[in-house]
Amino acid sequence: MSKERKRICPECKGIIKSGHTEMVYELENFKITIKNVTANICSKCGQSFIPGRVAEEVNRLVNRVIEDINSFIKTQPEASKGNKEIAIAV
Ligand SMILES: [Zn+2]
Repeated sequence: MSKERKRICPECKGIIKSGHTEMVYELENFKITIKNVTANICSKCGQSFIPGRVAEEVNRLVNRVIEDINSFIKTQPEASKGNKEIAIAV
């Protein structure tokens, strides 16, 4: 017997399948994109649902990256000028 239950999208009633998505964090000078985040994606409207545990892990990673960026900027102030985009694929 399969434990897998069909999950239905609350937005459009489409079927939700497991897949990957991107999480984007907009900071003052930087935009951080985390790619390949495990998520449940609606096959109809494309809405992604990120499990709480995964969101926590990504938040922890991003917080660490932000700390590193901030200490980097302190030594390299020129690097913070203009909009920077950081993409992390996990
Ligand atoms: Zn949907």
